[in-house]
Amino acid sequence: MISINGVKKIYPSKSGRVVAVDNVNLEVKEGEIFGVIGYSGAGKSTLIRMLNGLEIPTEGTINVAGREVSKIKGNELRQARQEISMIFQHFNLLWSRTVRENIAFPLEIAGVSKQERVKRVDELIKLVGLEGREDAYPAQLSGGQKQRVGIARALANNPKVLLCDEATSALDPQTTDSILDLLVDINKRLGLTIVLITHEMHVIRKICHRVAVMEDGRIVELGPVLEVFKNPVQPITKRFVKQVTEPEETKETVEHLLKRYPSGQVVQLTFVGEAAEQPVIANLIRQFALTVTILQGKISQTQTGSYGTLFIHLDGEKSEIDKAIDFIHSQQVGVEVIRND
Ligand code: ADP
Ligand code: MG
Repeated sequence: MISINGVKKIYPSKSGRVVAVDNVNLEVKEGEIFGVIGYSGAGKSTLIRMLNGLEIPTEGTINVAGREVSKIKGNELRQARQEISMIFQHFNLLWSRTVRENIAFPLEIAGVSKQERVKRVDELIKLVGLEGREDAYPAQLSGGQKQRVGIARALANNPKVLLCDEATSALDPQTTDSILDLLVDINKRLGLTIVLITHEMHVIRKICHRVAVMEDGRIVELGPVLEVFKNPVQPITKRFVKQVTEPEETKETVEHLLKRYPSGQVVQLTFVGEAAEQPVIANLIRQFALTVTILQGKISQTQTGSYGTLFIHLDGEKSEIDKAIDFIHSQQVGVEVIRND
């Protein structure tokens, strides 16, 4: 659906040139929810804006839904943008227009008749859950409702691709979750391909199938979300994964527990996919002459399976502890010994 080949974007600036996107190659499949994560300044917005021709690459080519978006202009580009629509962090609504009028706007531009517009807007209002708010102005809406208007407007002309630039970054966590649920629903119902960029791993965890990690304009890591959680390679990816796999207080707790349990071993287990659903701990307790204490843990769901981390303390004979760790390995669970006596 999307093919990015050798793309580079250089901006001129007073202090020289800024390489915002540096030799990016990427394929996004039809129907996929693809996430790009990176810190501020990594080049995410520049990359996503090149997908609908808001920016032109300095080098390379971009093909979206069968169109060379990096080459087209004028009318052809306007047509392409009906198929490749976008939502934004700050919603970009028309403040003097009601909800209904905002959603109708792209239909007016596309030359859709009044009668059809009314029908289509009604459908979209239902789809995004804005019934009863049709005649409100953006200033009268909550952040989540404003983004629902943004999504309805973006879907008006039945696009093939939806681009989301930090679409939940201005929202509180609960509203973020409801908007992410809506995006998953739209992806499933309409088969829409979604590319989203974010600096929050929670967003990737919750809705993406695959993720690319961006740093200094380059993609430094790429893979299915669950795989990246299981085995993050780059230091930056490890930091992002920790945003969601480790409860914030983990480090303190573990340090505290190491003092509290002076003997035995503290180990960190990482569960991915099916392993997260198996009773590994119960088996451990049953099969080994050890005292097993669960210290802290967290299990979360992704679009393609669950993963989690668990800190446990094992106390008993050294040889028995070693056997237990081998057993955990054999269950396809990651084990890291936090302290080895
Ligand atoms: P992100 O969305 O990941 O925060 P951006 O794509 O906005 O990153 O920016 C990447 C780099 O390009 C930054 O160094 C930024 O300052 C620079 N940049 C972005 N847009 C422009 C522009 N229009 N002119 C000059 N520099 C820009
Ligand atoms: Mg940005």
